[in-house]
Amino acid sequence: MSKSEELAQIHRKWFKSCKCELKNTATQPVSGAGSAEADIVFIGEAPGKKEDELGTPFVGAAGKFLDEMLNAIKLKREDIYITNIVKYRPPNNRDPLPQEKSDCREWLSEELRLISPKLIVFLGRHAMQNFFPDLQIGQTHGKLLIKKFKGVPTKYFYPLYHPAAALYDGSMREVLLADFKKLPKVLKEIENKENKV
Ligand code: URA
Repeated sequence: MSKSEELAQIHRKWFKSCKCELKNTATQPVSGAGSAEADIVFIGEAPGKKEDELGTPFVGAAGKFLDEMLNAIKLKREDIYITNIVKYRPPNNRDPLPQEKSDCREWLSEELRLISPKLIVFLGRHAMQNFFPDLQIGQTHGKLLIKKFKGVPTKYFYPLYHPAAALYDGSMREVLLADFKKLPKVLKEIENKENKV
């Protein structure tokens, strides 16, 4: 079985078995999308209205900005993998509750283990704090974090501001774009570190 077939199988399994209560209010699950062979996995918070309608992550306004930034570093959606901490839209886009995050956690872990990316990019503080609860995005955005977690296939993490937060804030937009443009260099840095090991 190919890696992308295995990934589809993981999603099918969780479509049936995920216990997240948001299932009751969401239109449909929004699983991750993109390449099962990706070097970079982007993790957002939870699907919004458009994502809930279409069943695909980052297809609304924040997704358009994300595409613009990917374009700036010559990457396409097909080259990367994008997913969310929580796979169902919270009502009125409220923050996901701790229980909802924990009910979706193993689904995310299985995606990450199968893809085994070199780098995980956090889109926003919620994604970052799911792994690093004590860090503040204002201090860590655009900095490579290195930490080993049990069951997580990479130790390299790169936090960014959430594209939705930067959409209507010109200066944050500039910061996010500048952090994003450092991604190719960050990947090189990781390759160099790994080659030394
Ligand atoms: N915001 C997110 O965090 N995830 C999406 O899929 C869309 C918007």
